[in-house]
Amino acid sequence: MARYTDASCRLCRREKEKLYLKGDRCYSAKCALSRRSYAPGQHGKKNAKLSEYGTQLREKQKVKRIYGVLEKQFKEYYEIALKKGGVTGEHLLMLLESRLDNVVYRLGFAKSRKEARQLVLHNHFTVDGHKTNIPSYIVKPGQTIQLKEKSKKSPKFIEIIEDNQSRPVPNFLTVDFEAMKGSMLSQPTKEHIEIPIQEQLIVELYSK
Ligand code: SF4
Repeated sequence: MARYTDASCRLCRREKEKLYLKGDRCYSAKCALSRRSYAPGQHGKKNAKLSEYGTQLREKQKVKRIYGVLEKQFKEYYEIALKKGGVTGEHLLMLLESRLDNVVYRLGFAKSRKEARQLVLHNHFTVDGHKTNIPSYIVKPGQTIQLKEKSKKSPKFIEIIEDNQSRPVPNFLTVDFEAMKGSMLSQPTKEHIEIPIQEQLIVELYSK
């Protein structure tokens, strides 16, 4: 499965914004962006003004990096969102936010989306009781994601749950840490996303 392999902190520094790609480290003083708030590379410290195209491109790159999606799949999400009619940008965000790896992360069963993707791939979760190991699976309202019985006793998950229990869960989801399961209550909207996104810039870019 194709995925981003660049060092996570470089991606944040490139976007000059915290994208929360590394879990605990992102909330600590060790965050690379707190220490070096300029883009990586030789010209990283230059503050060149972006063109309209450049601004749109950066917003698209930022969103792709937040969700760990490559260009081909991101474009496919855009095409699906476009076909739905209505506000394309909002449909696009809804699709990204409904990905199984994102839902696992937002429920608190992983410290980052990257970790969530690995855990899904390694068969730790079921959706409505069925084995599901596809990170891009789109979760629908009413569906339940549960940690497999065998995985519940794993020290890794005990640590993750301990660390994440105090993390707020967005209100389109509900979680039961005792039973290690969570459900989607409604479709996610832009308001549920913790990082500010100007999705209309992405729509403008693809509409050219
Ligand atoms: Fe981004 Fe987290 Fe690295 Fe900070 S620690 S630069 S938020 S990935």
